[in-house]
Amino acid sequence: MGGVLSGLGKGVATSSIALILERKGFKVTAIKIDPYVNVDAGTMNPTEHGEVFVTRDGVETDQDIGNYERFLDAELSKTNYMTTGSVYLALIKAERNLEFKGKQVEVVPHVPNEVIRRIREAARKNQANIVIVEIGGTVGEYQNLLFLEAARMLNLKQPGDVQYILVSYLPIPSNWGEMKTKPTEYAVRTLNSAGIQPHFILARGSLALDKPRRKRIALNTGVPAEDIIPAPDVESIYQVPLNFEREKLGDKILKNFGIKPRPTRLADWQRLVRGINRAERSIRIGVAGKYFGSGDFTLLDAYISVLESIKHAAWAAQVKPEIVWIETETFESDPKKIQDLSNLDGLIVPGGFGSRGVEGKIAAIKFARQNRLPFLGLCYGLQLAVVEFCRNVMGWRDAHTTEINPKTTHPVIDILPEQRLKLAKRDYGGSMRLGAYPCRLKPKTLAAKVYQRRVINERHRHRYEVNNRFRAQIEKAGLVVSGLYPKKNLVEIIELSDHPFFIATQFHPEFLTRPVKPHPLFAALISAGIRNKK
Ligand code: GLN
Repeated sequence: MGGVLSGLGKGVATSSIALILERKGFKVTAIKIDPYVNVDAGTMNPTEHGEVFVTRDGVETDQDIGNYERFLDAELSKTNYMTTGSVYLALIKAERNLEFKGKQVEVVPHVPNEVIRRIREAARKNQANIVIVEIGGTVGEYQNLLFLEAARMLNLKQPGDVQYILVSYLPIPSNWGEMKTKPTEYAVRTLNSAGIQPHFILARGSLALDKPRRKRIALNTGVPAEDIIPAPDVESIYQVPLNFEREKLGDKILKNFGIKPRPTRLADWQRLVRGINRAERSIRIGVAGKYFGSGDFTLLDAYISVLESIKHAAWAAQVKPEIVWIETETFESDPKKIQDLSNLDGLIVPGGFGSRGVEGKIAAIKFARQNRLPFLGLCYGLQLAVVEFCRNVMGWRDAHTTEINPKTTHPVIDILPEQRLKLAKRDYGGSMRLGAYPCRLKPKTLAAKVYQRRVINERHRHRYEVNNRFRAQIEKAGLVVSGLYPKKNLVEIIELSDHPFFIATQFHPEFLTRPVKPHPLFAALISAGIRNKK
């Protein structure tokens, strides 16, 4: 759980602890609990919530699940994610089905019991010896109290099987220039009032916690000084497990469980972090999106998996990724600005919804196509690349996706009948085409070369598809369809053969990147970018 501030990197802390224990030879899984009433993250605006991460089994979850998957190199599922809404929904459904056999259903213990049932189910389904549970929000918030209660009750049910870790914050106010411990001490008190004494405090801050302050917090909270672990800001999140390992956090956790210390195999992570710091040449990749702005601040959370995919691929190629955020609306108000794209080594148009910035994105794709700039389109990026091709190569001036223009004479991207029905019924939640689907690659295409496979499995999140009514004409005009979902004959990948690197996918490859194993499509984009530079 977190104290003092939100956004302290609880997800990275959770992932790092999970990784360390896994690399000590345990089978580990991780669960994210989000305290909001939404049943899942799918209906929230990314500027507010950050990325919606889609699991293989098609659940729209929190971006932290993405971190767990990347750190653990595992594919997680619906058992690894819950919200207040999903827990209540399950209880209310059970009540309506008479599953409580005439009993009164109470907030306590029924809600915490359902949470505990799910934690145990996650352990079983993932065959895990250890489950790390991240409780979203901050202690002291009304919203996550029931989850803290579940955490407390779990230890009553399984004494000695549960440890509590508080990720807290130690501010250094600029006028004082001194690290302050009180907010963390208050956070522990608040946790105490929920019946929980933490075993560990991860002391987040811009600097590492020093000895005197470690002692002071220990005195005021009762957490042993050696179990208050400094967690200063780092350049790369992949450094965090190495820092925890240096503090022997893994062995300390084992000791509390009565298990002897054992070695942690992290050689590949050490290599990864060394490589990150060593890269000298850089590569500039533009990301043309719109979910960046939050008041006066730029938030990158909405595209975190895309970002990580670029970084992983760049590091593997021993170059430093320089990511440029492109607000495409500026191309609509000032068309000359499009020339700025010539400073890039590659362009990504990521997933998106709605009309804002769409014409700018289409203009950016046109620039990439005409100027031989390496291009990767993701989901909306594919749909808009098809629109751009139909408009500017085939001359269908009003070609569009029916998401934006339902009256176009060339609806080259359209909604399938079953999806249209869902919208008519206002059935919006969890109802897109979601999760992993197989895709067959066309031999001898760029896609086949990149993947080196005949069939791939990638994750989806969209309602609209390439309209098969226009496909033959579009292919004849030179747009190559290099991947298909065989069962429904749906377009999954398009590419151009007379371009150094122009490829787009209806799925989201960014959900499958790994720090030490970049996704092949992003790796190929980076290689094309490096060639382009030369
Ligand atoms: N808005 C598009 C659709 O619903 C694309 C979605 C996306 O990019 N994830 O099909």
